[in-house]
Amino acid sequence: MFSEKMDLRLPGPVQVPREIQRAMLRSFDHPMMDYRNEEFQEILKETTDAAKMIFQTQNPVYVLTSSGASALETSMVNLVGPSDTIIICSVGYFGEYLTEIAEHIGVKVIKIETEWGKIVNPEDVRKALKNNSEVKAVFATHCETSTGAINPIKEIANVVKETEAVFVVDAVSSIVGTPLYMDEWGIDIVATGGQKALMLPPGIALITLSEKAWTAVEKHKCPSYYFDLKKYKKWLPIGHTPYTPNIALVNGLLEACRMIERSGGMEAEYKRHACLKEMTRAGVRALGLKLFVEDSIASPTLTSVVFDFMDADQFRKKMREDLHVAIGGGLGQLKGKLLRLGHMGYTDASDILKMFASLELNLVRHGVNVQLGAGVSAAQKYWLENPWC
Ligand SMILES: *Cc1c(COP(=O)(O)O)cnc(C)c1O
Repeated sequence: MFSEKMDLRLPGPVQVPREIQRAMLRSFDHPMMDYRNEEFQEILKETTDAAKMIFQTQNPVYVLTSSGASALETSMVNLVGPSDTIIICSVGYFGEYLTEIAEHIGVKVIKIETEWGKIVNPEDVRKALKNNSEVKAVFATHCETSTGAINPIKEIANVVKETEAVFVVDAVSSIVGTPLYMDEWGIDIVATGGQKALMLPPGIALITLSEKAWTAVEKHKCPSYYFDLKKYKKWLPIGHTPYTPNIALVNGLLEACRMIERSGGMEAEYKRHACLKEMTRAGVRALGLKLFVEDSIASPTLTSVVFDFMDADQFRKKMREDLHVAIGGGLGQLKGKLLRLGHMGYTDASDILKMFASLELNLVRHGVNVQLGAGVSAAQKYWLENPWC
């Protein structure tokens, strides 16, 4: 009957708030907004200025008409080519993404790898930089979305800062939900996308660069025509992108920034996401299920749960079809073995309670021995003491 009813508790895409839907509609609700006129030029400048807040930076922010991975590729093709060497900190599926982009371009890679569910030790980055002075850049995933672990970005930045190398961070699933202070920590490039905690439909990516990064970019001939950042830098001050921008998503991004400002800004967002995380972890524990990563490195934007009772993807499908709650599954080597509970962006305490109520029902009817209401109750108790979400 309710064929369009669905609660997305995924680690992306996330539910789009009504405020953002309306802001997007304004741009093509007759007449179509013309991206070469002054109205849109002002909106683009206002939006990219407002977006500095989400990176905690004073550097200009550029928008790309594509998904998050394009911002990662953009950072790489603008910095290095086949004669160069980079370090990649890989702790899961999205770390492998970076490696694949590098292999595609032909860049030489020194990989600092861990078992999935763990994080990189900054001392290993220090050693690798010391032994390989030719390294041009260090790449790291902030929140590894396949596991829900947070890499120690501040500490890695401290190590890279001491060298000539440029530090690039994939913040696609961390931005807004997880503390990240680009300028204060000394990160050189941050790349992100819209469909995670920024609450937008897919199709927009954001990238921002420090002075140190620009020096490296200016020296390098970018082989990509579309993603050549020098063009974006030239056009942004007059409110243009080099090619047709995603007008609806730029309008949506501006509204997302306004919503974050109205809610109390970035610190309030970090606190809200931390509360969603703690409610979720309390609920998982109370059900007697196993959390995939340790508390000290757990992401505020998603929670991974070990699932070995049956094929996790079959289990998720039943929950989606019968209870209209969609949760994430494992990626790569964890396919079918993990539940990934998304709690980023447009999610509140009641959403977490509904997710647990549905999860419990689905567990019990599949024969898993858990107590109905135990997860809901633990999450409720957390919230009573910490009503931040
Ligand atoms: C979602 C995600 C991406 C980007 O993927 P797209 O499909 O291109 O949007 C990259 N890195 C991480 C860590 C992600 O979570």
